[in-house]
Amino acid sequence: MSQTALPLSNMKLIHYSDVRLHKPCGKLPEINTEFESIIKDMFKLTKEQKGLGLAAPQIGLEQRFFIINHGGQKIVCIDPEIISFSKQVIVLEEGCLTYPDQYLNITRPMGVKVIYTDIKGKRVKTRFHEMKSRIFQHEFDHLCGITFFDRAQSEVKFNAGVA
Ligand SMILES: [Zn+2]
Repeated sequence: MSQTALPLSNMKLIHYSDVRLHKPCGKLPEINTEFESIIKDMFKLTKEQKGLGLAAPQIGLEQRFFIINHGGQKIVCIDPEIISFSKQVIVLEEGCLTYPDQYLNITRPMGVKVIYTDIKGKRVKTRFHEMKSRIFQHEFDHLCGITFFDRAQSEVKFNAGVA
């Protein structure tokens, strides 16, 4: 965990041009007190910035996890996988904390069936619909080095699988 030894006060969003935002993340975090502090600060940062989610690469950590903060629910997703997508797609306007004041219409499947490890280390298999599905897909993309600009501009395929 030496790589993640960030003093909390130093947690900030890295610039969108940073290479860490544009390549897949390979490592898994270790769930310990230091990790829990990072998660706590990520929720704080997300709330301050009025975001709905935040992925590790956005704060410069090349690790496979993200958080979702929506509808009064705080979800930590470690080592996430998308098992399948719903056939129905929907266009919604998205924002991203990495790109302040940018909003793009993005087409994505409406629902996802996913599996991830929660903050207690338990593997969870579930389905997400509507906004949580949208946030999950957006944050999952970050772990693959894909931004919403990539989604808006190209035909990045929606492949189920590991981030
Ligand atoms: Zn984002």
